[in-house]
This record gives sequence, C-alpha cells and structure tokens, in this order.
Amino acid sequence: MNSFNTQHSLAALGAPFSLPCTPTPVSAPQWLAFNAELATQLRLPKQYWHSDDGLAVFSGNIVPDWASPLAHAYAGHQFGHFVPQLGDGRALLLAEVINADNQRFDIQLKGAGQTPFSRRGDGRSPLGPVLREYLVSEAMYALGVPTTRALAAVLTGDFVQRETAEPGAILTRVASSHIRIGSFQYLAARGDHGQLKTFADYVINRHYPACASEANPYLALLAAVVAAQAKLVARWMSLGFIHGVMNTDNMSIAGETIDYGPCAFMDSFNPAQVYSFIDTQGRYAWGNQPRIASWNLARFAETLLPLLTEQPEHAVELATEVLQGFNGQNETEFLRLMAAKIGIVTATDTDEVLIRDLLNLMSANNADFSQSFRLLSRSVSNAAAGAAALFADKQGWADWTAKWQQRLAAQGIDPLQVSQQMDNTNPALIARNHLVAAAITQATEQADLTLFNRLHKALATPYTLSDDNADFALPPQPQQLIKNTFC
Ligand code: AMP
Ligand code: MG
Ligand code: MG
Repeated sequence: MNSFNTQHSLAALGAPFSLPCTPTPVSAPQWLAFNAELATQLRLPKQYWHSDDGLAVFSGNIVPDWASPLAHAYAGHQFGHFVPQLGDGRALLLAEVINADNQRFDIQLKGAGQTPFSRRGDGRSPLGPVLREYLVSEAMYALGVPTTRALAAVLTGDFVQRETAEPGAILTRVASSHIRIGSFQYLAARGDHGQLKTFADYVINRHYPACASEANPYLALLAAVVAAQAKLVARWMSLGFIHGVMNTDNMSIAGETIDYGPCAFMDSFNPAQVYSFIDTQGRYAWGNQPRIASWNLARFAETLLPLLTEQPEHAVELATEVLQGFNGQNETEFLRLMAAKIGIVTATDTDEVLIRDLLNLMSANNADFSQSFRLLSRSVSNAAAGAAALFADKQGWADWTAKWQQRLAAQGIDPLQVSQQMDNTNPALIARNHLVAAAITQATEQADLTLFNRLHKALATPYTLSDDNADFALPPQPQQLIKNTFC
C-alpha cells in the first residue's frame, strides 16, 4: 500500500486503557510550523500540508474521518510520589499511522483542550512550551537520539492563563507510541491482572514482538525496556542533556525521549545541574539520570510481577536480576559514547579513568560541555590549541592531554581521521537554553518567528557550522544565562 494508512489499535482496546474524547475547537488558528520531511515519512496527504485543511485538523477544529481521538489513561510517580490517575490531560491521540516501512506511529495533539483526565487543568498549552518542544525534539532527532517528533505547530488565536495571559498553541507530536511506565502503573493500581495482561500483550506485539516467543515473554519485555532505557539515558548524558521531569509517566516504554518540559542541554559542565524550577532537590540533575531511570524501571518491574510467575518471591528474584543489568548496560554504553567523543574507537575499561578525569577537569573549570568536546578535535595534534582555551587550569589541561594523546597514538590511526570522526560525533550546535528562550520570547512578545526558524534550520544539521549559524554554537554570555526553565 502506498497511501496514508491510519489504524486505531489502542482505541480498539477500549476502556480502561483509553477513553474517547474530541479536541475542543479554537477561535482563529494560524500556522507556526509544519514538518514536511516527517509528513513525507508518514505519507500524510498533501491536502494537509501547511494548508487550511491541515490547520483545521492540527488545531482540533475538525476531526478528520481518518482519526479516532482518545485520551490514554496512565498513572505515575511524580517526584517520587505515586498518583494513581494522571492520563492524557492536555493531549489526545488522533490516530496511529503505518508508514511505508510498516512502522506504526502515534499522531497526538498536545494542547487541544480538556479530556476526561484533565482534572483541574485547562487542557491547553501556551506558545512557549510548544515552540520549545518543537525545537528540542527535532534537535534530538537530528542528533540521532530516539525521540518523539514534531509534525506541526499552530497558534489557537485564544489566550491561556498562566502567570500572565499567554497566546495558546497546539503541537502535533509523533511517537512510536505514547505508552509509558505509568500506563502499566495505572493498570497495576486497579488490581485487575486480566487487564494488565491484555495490555502487556498489546505492548509486546506493538513494540517488542520478539519477546512473544521467549520462554517468559513478560520478563523479556522487562529486559527489553531496561535495555532501551539504559541506552537512551547514556545518549542523553553524552550530549549534556537534562530531561528535567523523569517521572514514571514521562518514561516511554519504547525507549524514546518523551515529554519535553523543563528540559535543557547544559552549557558549562556541572553534574549537579538542574534547570527545572520545580526540581529544588536536584532529583533529576544531569548526573542523577541513570539512578532515576533505574528507579523508574523498578516501578515498571513491580507492575509486571503478577505476570512473571505464580510464586511472588520467585517473581521478585527474576525481576531483580533483570533490573540489576541496567547499571552495567548503561555504563558500557556511556563509556562507548564518551570514548568516541574523545576519539577512541574501541573503548577499554581504563578509558573510563581518562573520561572521568576530563569531566572532572571540565567541571572544575566551568568549561562548556558541548564546546569542550567539539573543540577537542583541534587539540588532537596540538594540545595548546582547540579546547585548551576553555581550561583556566593550564597544568591540569597539560596533564590530561598528555595522557589522552598517548592513548590516541596507541590506536595507530591517522590524527586527521580521528579529528574528523570526533567532529561527526560531537555536535557544534545544540538547542542552547538561552537561544530557545530568546526564540520563544521573540515569538510570544513580537509575534516574530525569525529566530525560531533560524534555530530550527541550524539544529537540523548539528555537526556542521556555517557562516549564518556560527553564533548559535557559542555559550551564553553571563547576562544571557538561563537558570530556570518552565514547562
Ligand atoms: P507533565 O508534567 O507534562 O508530565 O504532566 C503531568 C500530568 O498533568 C499529565 O497527566 C498531564 O496530562 C497533566 N497536565 C499538565 N498540564 C495540564 C493542563 N494544562 N491541563 C490538563 N492537564 C494537564
Ligand atoms: Mg507528561
Ligand atoms: Mg510535560
């Protein structure tokens, strides 16, 4: 089949997994952004491309015949506290799309009005968070990180009341699914094992079909999710990315980065860095992310216990063994990624020390995370060049580069080739917080998308600097520094 193909597998499961609901119409929708590349992948009919028909659909003003809108039910641990019912309160699933490679994607509207799970919320989103998610999720995609994507962004023409009245907007988000750890927690909290099993079977079939033929499919599901999360979090860490709200309802079962709230790429390196204004304890700081992911996965494992075996104690043993694999998998992936960032092709255990030493040096010198790695390629043959300028501790830098250059020399690879490989690994351009904030301010206060569009274009090719985007590579000036990000 070569045409737009939508299905409704989650809708077909019915309640309690989801409840039908429709978007609430808006006053005067206007286009902000449309992702033609993603639309092509999804085989979205041209009728909806940046057109009036598209605007009507992606603002929620009409429900096309190919949609079957619903709100997904989920629970979650928010900052460690369990909430038995959260659910899609400001998002709704329009349809699942099957692409030409037979892959399934959710098309979701975020900010399209109240749903049965809105509680006291308005189901709406201000413009700022929509633009932030559009920029950062597409930047993550360009960096090769598993992530939800942005298909469309529209203004609603209505205001949403937050601290002040802000222009309302809707993001159309695409994900391999929006199923979370919290989806399982919702069912487990209801205590109906039949429903839990139905859902686990659905998830295996949808995301991890190979698990179905394993001796213990549910244990295999746990292992698959652990593996996906271990890799994902290592990727975040290697880019200086801080998710910001790693609540269990924001952890995708498919292992994609989901829910771009108060997320940020770090500027100067500090393992304890947090940007979210609500994260006063630093629970979701950069360096805590593996520990939190592991904790979240333990919550996932708890939901699966009744499906693992009929003997409760044995179920705990089985799950614990799988969960214990997380640290090793995450550390191995982190080591591999970080080694590549410093030009090492095949990482060994001793490289761990070299990497830790560099990170410590960066943190002691407040060196910019992305620039330290990006400029390091120019230090391969000359330690006094490239990243050297970022380190005030000249002796510390000289000591580290001496060990590093020795390690590189032992590989016997042409230094030029090493440098090139490093430039293909370390992005020159990340979605810097102060730039994202400036783009949002310009759009919100002056209805001007110039910076948003420039930034979006630049972030699509993060490994290549050009004359018209070189300014985006620079760290913020002290007065530009953003200390808090709001979602
Ligand atoms: P988040 O912090 O984005 O992960 O959202 C946590 C929960 O709050 C989810 O169940 C959301 O659907 C819900 N929520 C957040 N903002 C709103 C809103 N404006 N209206 C309704 N529900 C919301
Ligand atoms: Mg969420
Ligand atoms: Mg959020």
